[in-house]
Amino acid sequence: MNSVRVHRFAEKKIKQGICLLDGTDFQGLGLTNQLVELLSEGGTFLGTAYLSNQNKGVGWFLGPGHLKLDSSFFEGLLAKAKGKRQVYRESQTTTAYRIFNQDGDGFGGLSIDLYNEFAVFSWYNDYVYGIKDTVLSAFRRVYPEIVGAYEKIRFKGLDWESAHLFGQEAPETFTILENGVAYQVFLNDGLMTGIFLDQHEVRGSLVDGLAAGKSLLNMFSYTAAFSVAAAMGGARQSVSVDLAKRSRELSEAHFQANGLSMEPHKLVVMDVFAYFKYAKRHSLSFDVIVLDPPSFARNKKQTFSVAKDYHKLLAQSLEILSPGGIIIASTNASNVSPSRFKKEIEKGLAGVHFDYLASHRLPSDFVYNKNDESSNYLKVFTIQVQK
Ligand code: SAH
Repeated sequence: MNSVRVHRFAEKKIKQGICLLDGTDFQGLGLTNQLVELLSEGGTFLGTAYLSNQNKGVGWFLGPGHLKLDSSFFEGLLAKAKGKRQVYRESQTTTAYRIFNQDGDGFGGLSIDLYNEFAVFSWYNDYVYGIKDTVLSAFRRVYPEIVGAYEKIRFKGLDWESAHLFGQEAPETFTILENGVAYQVFLNDGLMTGIFLDQHEVRGSLVDGLAAGKSLLNMFSYTAAFSVAAAMGGARQSVSVDLAKRSRELSEAHFQANGLSMEPHKLVVMDVFAYFKYAKRHSLSFDVIVLDPPSFARNKKQTFSVAKDYHKLLAQSLEILSPGGIIIASTNASNVSPSRFKKEIEKGLAGVHFDYLASHRLPSDFVYNKNDESSNYLKVFTIQVQK
């Protein structure tokens, strides 16, 4: 096994418990796609890591010992992770959730989600993809009850994003339950599955009645999961806005899965900023507005980034929010800290009085690395504006 030295600041970072390795941690890193021994600048053994380029970072620190990545290593990690999800496993009302979450569960670069009796593996780099047979044999011993699995390729280099991995094939579309609400999912069509599982607590707050009797505007709605949760929680009406045409039929499927009539629930294929204009022109107003944009988006005319532009969404929302209305401000941008996100929010709400009613971070199935705050990437604030 090769050994590589890290800079002194990287040694400090690793000792603090941060696992994601960055190119700047090394001096001229010539290696990739392999297990390595990490050494300090002075040559002291720090632990085992693997190197592989991914979207963010060049590898992962795995632990202070001399590790061997055999099937029993993964069995140990998977069994421990399984133990942490007992409440979900026993739940009758939630059948889709995360069962392995990267460095939070002891191995960065891999996540696994359950959708009823099917598993979905996400490989974040070439190295973890290369050892998938070992991971899968461990998985099948720890999860004999899982009947089939799919994979998502979340790194560059292969010419497909999604494939069947083992066992039975899932129906092309089927429904899962979350907080007692049905959602229609698909496991083998690109990287998406029809629902972002990390938002289940926020949807739960809507199911529990946050929008009961109210009108809701769901911006960047994708498959309108927030609107469906709100409808099941008694929302009077909703409008879901997304630029992508395909979002329409996927949204309808979620509503239909719960036997909800579409009549009080509108689906609009439009740019959100165009919709803000439209709503103002037609004097529309909403009691609850959900703002959950992608971290970064580019369309023909402009780019949008959470770090720089989120405040505009709040300022625009204020103009069409009912008196005393609620804004659910959400981002999954890992480069935006909670305090920075709050600053963006408060910039957008300048001059108005408001209260933070609730905040949400990653739910407990998305076990994050407690020593690396940025791995708890989800930040959601429920805000009530006083008028
Ligand atoms: N809130 C959703 C997830 C949003 S994913 C949920 O809870 O499921 C981001 C979505 O934003 C994508 O569906 C994308 O099509 C949409 N989007 C990106 N830029 C947009 C824009 N300018 N206007 C409207 N929708 C946009």
